[in-house]
Amino acid sequence: MRLLVRARAKINWTLDVLGQRPDGYHELDMLISSVTLCDQMDIREAEDLSLLLASNRHSFIPADDRNLVMRAAQTLQEAAGIRKGAEIRLHKYIPVCAGMGGGSSDAAGALMALNRLWNCRLSLEELCRIGLKIGADVPFCLHGGLCRVKGIGEQVMERPMGRSIYLITIQPGRGLSTKEVFESLHTEGINPADRPDNEAAEQALAEGHLRELVSAMGNVLEPVSVRKRPKICEALKDLRESGAIGAQMTGSGSVVFGIYPNAYRCREALEELQKKYPNARAMHTVDSGIEITEEE
Ligand code: ATP
Repeated sequence: MRLLVRARAKINWTLDVLGQRPDGYHELDMLISSVTLCDQMDIREAEDLSLLLASNRHSFIPADDRNLVMRAAQTLQEAAGIRKGAEIRLHKYIPVCAGMGGGSSDAAGALMALNRLWNCRLSLEELCRIGLKIGADVPFCLHGGLCRVKGIGEQVMERPMGRSIYLITIQPGRGLSTKEVFESLHTEGINPADRPDNEAAEQALAEGHLRELVSAMGNVLEPVSVRKRPKICEALKDLRESGAIGAQMTGSGSVVFGIYPNAYRCREALEELQKKYPNARAMHTVDSGIEITEEE
């Protein structure tokens, strides 16, 4: 059997940090959506477990046991008591250290596909429990669509989305380490004015009201990341000037996104923005995180 997997990137409409647990993990409250941008994996049955990174542009992504795809496969082997292997070919398109959950989505895609390839018959809930050991965003990536995510990422509640939303993302300069951004948040603290209104954002997303969404959204990590990468601020301004109704950083950055009223305005803005930012990408929200097709 051969499985083709699309592992979708995510964007944060909201990201609030409610506190820190004694074990160091942060208590979060977020609204997250899957978007069309995705990595792809080609997974075949094999005796041993192996991973090939199909493009060498990403030399900073490990192709060994440190890769989240390999960690997902090995954790599943252990949890299900499986000795089978697989040949995995990973094509990366999601920017790295971007706040778009690329590594987590690859791990979620590997878990879901290998669960099928190896006939493990684990439920979504069981896959989420395994996924959480690999990364806080993995349970969300397994659910996909629009979700309210709380705790350390283990409480994932699927939410209805009133309409597809058209976006442009830009990565202004180098990526950012999630760990470093959270460490700086500790020293710098949170300004209450930066906190999102999760309830209002959830309602705006359900009703498809973009202006209400923009006034309710927020990411408490944005000011910290802006201080580390001042170019983030410039990119947010450029997105707004290109016709975005609102613009914000996703996750711990450094990717920022702009929200456009429709596909036409989004395409028009992309043409303009790509002159300054060749890595600008247009995308829209989708209602699933992982898609798997079976080939003979
Ligand atoms: P998040 O939004 O979940 O915080 P991120 O966009 O900040 O994620 P990723 O790009 O998912 O970060 O990955 C961050 C780190 O994980 C990098 O140091 C990278 O080398 C490592 N990594 C391991 N496996 C992968 C993978 N399959 N894809 C991307 N990065 C990976």
